[in-house]
Amino acid sequence: MKSPMVAVRAADSSGVATDSRTPIRYIVAAVVVTVLGVLWYLTRPGPDAVAYLFMPAGGVAGVAAILALLRSERLDPVARRFWRHILIGMGTLSVGYLALAVVAFRTSPELPDIPLPAAALAAIGMLVAMWGVMRVPLGNTGARRRQLLDRTIAFAGVGTLLWTFGLAPMITAHTGWSAQSCVLIGLSFLLGLGGITKVSYIERGPVDRSAIRLIAATALTGVGVALLSVRNENESTLLAQSVVMPVTYLFVAVGAYRQAIATGGPARRTGTWLPYIALAAVDVSLLSVLRHGLAWTDFVVVIATVLLTGLVAVRQMMALRENGRLLRAQRASEDRLRHQVTHDGLTGLGNRGLFRTRVAEALDRGDTTVLLVDLDDFKTVNDSLGHDVGDQLLIAVAGALSSGVGPDGLPVRLAGDEFAVLLCPGADGEAVARRVLDEFAKPMSEHRLLVHASIGIATARAGEGLDRLLRQADVAMYAAKQRGKANWVRYHDGMEQPVLAHAQIGGELRRALDAGEFRVHYQPVVELATGRIVGVEPLVRWEHPTRGLVAPGEFIPAAEGTGLIVPLGRFVLREACRQAAEWLAEFGPDCMQKIAPNVSVRQLHDPDFVAEVFAALAESGLPAERLVLELTESAVLRGPQVSRTLHELDARGVRLALDDFGTGESSLSLLRSFPASIIKLDKSFVDGIELDEPGTPAAEARQAVARAVIQLAGALGLDTVAEGIENQEQADRLRRLGYTLGQGYHLARPMPADEMTRVLAGRVQLAVAA
Ligand code: C2E
Ligand code: CA
Ligand code: CA
Repeated sequence: MKSPMVAVRAADSSGVATDSRTPIRYIVAAVVVTVLGVLWYLTRPGPDAVAYLFMPAGGVAGVAAILALLRSERLDPVARRFWRHILIGMGTLSVGYLALAVVAFRTSPELPDIPLPAAALAAIGMLVAMWGVMRVPLGNTGARRRQLLDRTIAFAGVGTLLWTFGLAPMITAHTGWSAQSCVLIGLSFLLGLGGITKVSYIERGPVDRSAIRLIAATALTGVGVALLSVRNENESTLLAQSVVMPVTYLFVAVGAYRQAIATGGPARRTGTWLPYIALAAVDVSLLSVLRHGLAWTDFVVVIATVLLTGLVAVRQMMALRENGRLLRAQRASEDRLRHQVTHDGLTGLGNRGLFRTRVAEALDRGDTTVLLVDLDDFKTVNDSLGHDVGDQLLIAVAGALSSGVGPDGLPVRLAGDEFAVLLCPGADGEAVARRVLDEFAKPMSEHRLLVHASIGIATARAGEGLDRLLRQADVAMYAAKQRGKANWVRYHDGMEQPVLAHAQIGGELRRALDAGEFRVHYQPVVELATGRIVGVEPLVRWEHPTRGLVAPGEFIPAAEGTGLIVPLGRFVLREACRQAAEWLAEFGPDCMQKIAPNVSVRQLHDPDFVAEVFAALAESGLPAERLVLELTESAVLRGPQVSRTLHELDARGVRLALDDFGTGESSLSLLRSFPASIIKLDKSFVDGIELDEPGTPAAEARQAVARAVIQLAGALGLDTVAEGIENQEQADRLRRLGYTLGQGYHLARPMPADEMTRVLAGRVQLAVAA
């Protein structure tokens, strides 16, 4: 323990105990009483009864110290309750001893045995103090039962030790003790023991630990005193009364002081060692008892030993159970944590981190294939239908992805609308891609949304870099996006180059559109028999400031990929309608029948598309019957919304043409459900159709297709246009097969509007079929 002076300085410097009521002066008073007691005992002036005065005098100091403490407003209510109990206890005890002092002077020079009223007061005082100690709350409520058990063990163990080596020999040695002395000794004993075991389990709390410790010390000093106060041995009684007893009040005063300056202090692990000390204590007691025959006091030890063994066994079982529970809880939380770290919270698929780890592991083992899956138009869904719908769609997509992949790989969500698959060794990337796209072709989530995805596939040799593989898959995915039609692409060397070019073009397109760099050229559709112009196809060109005229093949995919095809297509549509109306006005209704701009699938998805078509017609004054929209098969196959748009256009008089006919996979069933009125035989069936040397199966096949298409068209009442006619032989052959209309460089190349105007004016002659 620190000296009071040091404690005061520490308290002052920390500013905690500058309170003038700090009970330091009562410590001084208790010290003075103690010192006087020692001096008296050594010099022995006056009668022996004087020895009985020091105890009540010390009591005054102790009680005053507690009173001073209780006046402090900073005292916690729990601590206040505790100190009130101690106050009452100590006060009552002191009054009891005052009574004893009075009796001592009356009977002087005989020394008195403690009279009953005084003993009763002292006993009540100790009981109240005990009650106060008991009610001090333990800090940790979680382990109540375990703590209670531990404290019982400690109490029994330490108690047994004290009993064996302290109380029992004393009691048996001095059989002449009065009953009240025995009771007081017992109570002091219990109070001291209770205080010790209690304080071992108190964490930081309102009642200062060291204060409780001092109270316990007080009580144990009391035991010592009681044992010294033997009637027949006057010397020890005088020593106890004059020297030892006042020390107990010194402890009380210091305890009150400690409480006054208490700042809590750090929480600490409490009482863990006590049960083991208790066990050792009871063992020592038992061994000592066994050395001689058993007296009645020894049965206390035996019973305590049995009790303690049982308690420790229970305690051990509880600890075991608790450990098991803790272990399980920890394992569960570890599992949960690991899952959280490696999985995507929304879809439950693995996340980017897991993907990278697994791909790296796979690369260590052998050739590794990954698929990168990116949703087209997901942003549109999110923006137009809201994030909740977007989230549900992502969950559905995750499900579709998982069932598409099946046991062939590990599907993960990388970010946003980006997914990926790590293929198991030996799985076929193309087959998995196809299955995934099949799954995606079904309407998804409760909103029955159609999702389209682009898939990039890349394979790396064992030991090749992870990042390189992912970059290649990304390049392939980007290429797939740009193609639009083929929804998956496998990476091949050198693929980066055009993709990068496309990416650059994408950025430039917007600027070009704003700067008005796009032009529309026109290619006539001609009656094969007469060379008469029956229609024109507007074809967009980019008049690039440095690269010159850029063909649509170089920028249309990028425009489709970025969505810029929508404003670009709108521009071509308006310009074509305006130009056609102008020509009709200038050259009359027979100069051409139709104008047939190309429409991309992205435009069909635009909910304003129909309105825009009719706005273009209205603005230009072109009648709807004169407009044909050219669509590819894959565009037409895009679900119920597109189908509705097309039927509406048809119903309102706009004709539809199926472009590049024969290259897709649909054909017959498509023609039944889709309101087309024109089909355009793809150039690939025209190429080489004139080469009819026998034994050229390719040429024969092409002719067969051309023949089948014309028969089909005839049966369905559709017009046909043969595309890409590059020479007269092709034109003749097609005519013989039944084609009446054609388009191609041989008949007329696409040309700027002013040149087309001269052609329509009859000033330029077209090649005319024989
Ligand atoms: P398409 O709709 O099949 O257009 C016909 C393409 O074939 C045009 O190429 C045309 O110049 C070319 N062509 C015509 N006759 C012959 C021939 O005898 N031989 C050869 N080798 N080619 C011939 P262009 O103008 O480069 O357009 C390419 C594709 O770009 C078009 O194919 C069309 O799909 C797309 N496209 C062009 N303009 C637009 C547009 O305004 N909007 C949309 N969405 N796509 C367009
Ligand atoms: Ca076309
Ligand atoms: Ca075409």
